[in-house]
Amino acid sequence: MKIIRSISTLKNELGRGKKKGRSVGLVPTMGYLHEGHLSLIRRARKENDLVAVSIFVNPAQFGPNEDYKEYPRDLRNDAALCKRAGVDFIFYPAVKAMYPNGYSTYVKVEGLTGNLCGKFRPSHFCGVTTVVAKLFNIAKPDAAYFGQKDAQQAIVIKRMAEDLDMGITINIMPTVREKDGLAMSSRNAYLSPDERRAAPTVYRALQLARDLIKSGNRDTAKIKSEMKKMLSVVAAKIDYISIVNPEDLKEVKKIKGGAKGKLLVAVAVWIGETRLIDNIEVKA
Ligand code: AMP
Repeated sequence: MKIIRSISTLKNELGRGKKKGRSVGLVPTMGYLHEGHLSLIRRARKENDLVAVSIFVNPAQFGPNEDYKEYPRDLRNDAALCKRAGVDFIFYPAVKAMYPNGYSTYVKVEGLTGNLCGKFRPSHFCGVTTVVAKLFNIAKPDAAYFGQKDAQQAIVIKRMAEDLDMGITINIMPTVREKDGLAMSSRNAYLSPDERRAAPTVYRALQLARDLIKSGNRDTAKIKSEMKKMLSVVAAKIDYISIVNPEDLKEVKKIKGGAKGKLLVAVAVWIGETRLIDNIEVKA
């Protein structure tokens, strides 16, 4: 396994492989890897001849008062995990390499980025799509792997890849959880022991929504208010509780009985100083 910091070196390494007919799988991450990331990496390993994992804490996707500086970083441990998982290349660029002086180009997906997390983090998705577009141009992968944990991000990236004819297969992998249901996240490292004990309530609220829908509740306002009651006990602040159509991320007011479609129930809450997001898909 090689750890590569230079854009041109990664291009050359992967370009050589592609010329020999080798397929390339890319797993974009911000590092501090956990089992969620590893599930993506393992899938990429199964499906491709060459696997590249990017580790880049992307300043463009953090707002001015967000946790860019504090975001946990541990390249040594990440490299050990990647090596064990059979990764060929870790791409670990410097911020200056990705955004040199004079950098001026941004990719913006409209419509899908206005609600849910986009409402609370207005520049976030533009930062995500810009860096992912750059990573795609650098690695030119056949397939790229993302997690359902960041459902809106996955939907936005699929849209971008399709709209810009990128010709890359976007694979979305299920959310990997701790035993108590908490969705794995690098940010879970911020939680104090008390907060960590409270955090699984986020998933319990999603399960409550699923149970209410399955047992015939059709009024999403009522379902959301039951979730809010449960979350209010542990959450310092609720950014949003949303029940949306996973195709267009539009809020669903009344669930249609017997509909074939799926619903996405998504939440973002603050447990102390830590913002947690989670979601589940429910068959309507
Ligand atoms: P991050 O390093 O947080 O930017 O995440 C990198 C990729 O891993 C994204 O596509 C995430 O959606 C995915 N990911 C993060 N946490 C999980 C998880 N618990 N289960 C599955 N995928 C995840």
